[in-house]
Amino acid sequence: MQLNLETSTQEIIAECAECGLCSSACNFLAQTGVSPLEMASRGITFEEAYGCAQCGLCEVVCPLHLNPMQMFVDRRVEAVRNEELDPNDFNYLLPDEEENVMKLYRSYYEVDYSDITIDLDSKTGFFPGCTLMTYSPGLTKRIYSQIQLKYGCQGMLTSCCGKPLYQMGLIDRAEKYSETIINEVKQRGIQRLVVSCPSCYYLLRDLIKGTGVEILTVYEMLDFKNGSPESLPQCTVHDPCPDRGEGIFAQQVRGALETFGYELVEMANNRENTLCCGSGGQISHFRPELACNLVESRLNEASGSGAVILASSCLSCVLNFARKPSQLSIRHALNLLLDYDEDYTETKNKAAQMFSDQDEILN
Ligand code: SF4
Ligand code: SF4
Repeated sequence: MQLNLETSTQEIIAECAECGLCSSACNFLAQTGVSPLEMASRGITFEEAYGCAQCGLCEVVCPLHLNPMQMFVDRRVEAVRNEELDPNDFNYLLPDEEENVMKLYRSYYEVDYSDITIDLDSKTGFFPGCTLMTYSPGLTKRIYSQIQLKYGCQGMLTSCCGKPLYQMGLIDRAEKYSETIINEVKQRGIQRLVVSCPSCYYLLRDLIKGTGVEILTVYEMLDFKNGSPESLPQCTVHDPCPDRGEGIFAQQVRGALETFGYELVEMANNRENTLCCGSGGQISHFRPELACNLVESRLNEASGSGAVILASSCLSCVLNFARKPSQLSIRHALNLLLDYDEDYTETKNKAAQMFSDQDEILN
């Protein structure tokens, strides 16, 4: 991929009217104290590049349809190429590394999928995404069994979609990693790929374009319950940032929950105006205070909506919200739709516990 920093900054320099709307919508931009035009003119710093959550809200609110985010994304690529960032410091995040947190967690907590039923004649494969298959094996198996029942399924693709590599600016490694996913899809003869995570869905959809492989969301593939005999609590849906542009998941998840019998209420910022959960752009590793503010803002919005349940189609968002104390019941949308309840309050602590246990063993 071509390094594009010059193009993205030139566009801002040429067109930004310094109206301030993007900074009003984004804490990170506001805290820089300068407009995108000033930043583009003087050059983006390393700290700025890795402080942007890559959420895409700035483009939505910009009356000129400019995209300040792209400057930060491109600046990360430059930081990697200039060796300002040492990727070895972040191996635990990176899917092409053996000792990343997801693989360690699955091994440490013995997450095992050897008991799923494989239909070798099926051309359908399930891509749960690494967060779901790591932190919620029960829900992953429930989804898989529903796909298996309806269409037959030849198993799961257990790789990460590669997003963390792209987010970190490790573009060459990301593209190499993406090739391994396409090769696996081809080698296994998969013709229909079912995806549950919005982030994976949009990335994989681009990757497999032109291969003839059909890509479907779990929500369009499965039939969920129609109506509930008892009245269900009010629920609000958090839309993950990758869905901001097209809203495929926003529509499908709301449709399925309403059909199921949930009464939906909306947060002040929803669909294309959704707010980041704090996990975007890996900012919790670079700017934890910004990530923390984003979580709190979103939880406040959810509480303000009057909802009892905060649901999302992205487990990363769910885990980020669930680690903060709150009166809300925080669930993956599929926990609700597949009658598989789970409490995620302690999930992130379990990952931290794993590292501290290992430190004790090593010391
Ligand atoms: S992508 Fe999100 S965090 Fe980054 S500048 Fe735009 S609004 Fe701010
Ligand atoms: S919203 Fe658009 S025009 Fe306004 S300051 Fe931001 S980038 Fe510039």
